[in-house]
Amino acid sequence: MNLKIYNSLSGEKETFKPIHEKNVGMYVCGPTVYSNVHLGNVRTFMSFDFIYRALTFLGYKVRYVRNITDAGHLTDDGDVDNDRFVKQSRLEKLEPMEIVQKYTVDFHKVLDTFNLLPPTIEPTATGHILEQIELAQKLIKSGFAYESNGSVYFDVLEYNKRGLNYGELSRRNIDELFANTRDLDGQNEKKNPQDFALWKSASPAHLMRWNSPWGEGFPGWHLECTAMSTKYLGENFDIHGGGMDLKFPHHECEVAQGKACNGTTPVNYWMHANMLTMNGQRMSKSTGNYILPMELVSGNNDFFEKPFHPAIVRFNFMQAHYRSVLDISNEAMVASEKGYQRLMEAVKVVSGFTFQLSGSSSFDLKSWKEKCYDALTDDFNSPILISHLFEAVNFIFKLKDGKETITSEDLQELKKLMHDFVFEVLGLQNIEENNNEKLDQALQVLIELRNQARKSKNFELSDQIRDRLLAEGIELKDGRDGTTYSLS
Ligand code: AMP
Ligand code: ZN
Repeated sequence: MNLKIYNSLSGEKETFKPIHEKNVGMYVCGPTVYSNVHLGNVRTFMSFDFIYRALTFLGYKVRYVRNITDAGHLTDDGDVDNDRFVKQSRLEKLEPMEIVQKYTVDFHKVLDTFNLLPPTIEPTATGHILEQIELAQKLIKSGFAYESNGSVYFDVLEYNKRGLNYGELSRRNIDELFANTRDLDGQNEKKNPQDFALWKSASPAHLMRWNSPWGEGFPGWHLECTAMSTKYLGENFDIHGGGMDLKFPHHECEVAQGKACNGTTPVNYWMHANMLTMNGQRMSKSTGNYILPMELVSGNNDFFEKPFHPAIVRFNFMQAHYRSVLDISNEAMVASEKGYQRLMEAVKVVSGFTFQLSGSSSFDLKSWKEKCYDALTDDFNSPILISHLFEAVNFIFKLKDGKETITSEDLQELKKLMHDFVFEVLGLQNIEENNNEKLDQALQVLIELRNQARKSKNFELSDQIRDRLLAEGIELKDGRDGTTYSLS
């Protein structure tokens, strides 16, 4: 297998060589849990969910670490007290950790709705304060960082003086960076405006604070990812992912911290997922151009004509390559809905195929399978994979109409491949199956409630449940083994 991955560090597609054969270490920057994730955030996490699924499908054992940013110096407006968690906790009149809990729960619920698999490790910034303090101490000791007024900053100029190249990931020239930066944040404390905080001293009003060798404070955002990726994946690991907008300064700072701390480049393959736009503009909370994932699913929004099932949203996202910008619109969603239904119908037809089998196949399954694998191994090209799936879809419908032939062996393999690509790799869900399952669960609840009513001799209620279900075309039948139902 020759897996090619586009590496943001080199700007080229490279052959993927994991550090330990068959094992992959992957770190993806997680959400900052001070508000609900928007649909754009979901796209980035879904891109890496697809990559995780594809790597697993291709036979790798993946240790997938995605953190939760539940503390950290994140502001760039110069106001140290303007911590997003603290600000939100004042707004909602909750403890900062209640804010963290509320939006972590929301994040998990949303990702579950869109059928994203959980990472294998999900560490939190607040759970790794000690590791971050240790890294900052190490950097001070080796001369890459300095303390100032209870805060600790990374010395970018010193890093460059030692022949290390700040700006290598985002391809920024350090001199230009120095000339163009007007960073107010910590201006009286920093040697240079490009220096970034590893630790920030907390003012008396700051609620989230920890003891440190430099007094009470809180960690810098960039350091958190270096601390957790090093702890769980090592000083040098295979893949680091995140949205395109994190390349600078966040990931650039991670490269610098890793190299300065450990003398080795932390990451072999940097992967950046592209943005979701709506009406041609990047989705973002700050501009107001955003939709919450559940608003799209419920239909409760001003942008879309109707609600869309999460599986259709997922199909729409998968129709774009993870490195391309994707614009979401009503027309695109309607088209995806049609495509999704046709794909699911074909999966259903091929799974239940009971037609005449033949001594030969009119479909070149071997080369089709190769093309699907080629798409997957060519930098995880989901739209090309989907276009190949639709070649098979067309074949399946013709097969059903008796216009094509297939051998028993090929049929078995086609069934399995369609199932694997659609459900395991693309992570699509079958709406119909899901709905049936839910209906069954709901009816079991009603049957149980009716039994309870009968036990307590509330026959009025038990009859009412039976009659009203009957009126909806659902007949309950009481037998020796309990109550069953049939749908008319
Ligand atoms: P945040 O919680 O702000 O750190 O964002 C979580 C993830 O969502 C990051 O990887 C961002 O790069 C990503 N992200 C933010 N806006 C968008 C967008 N419009 N489209 C795709 N990904 C985004
Ligand atoms: Zn990060």
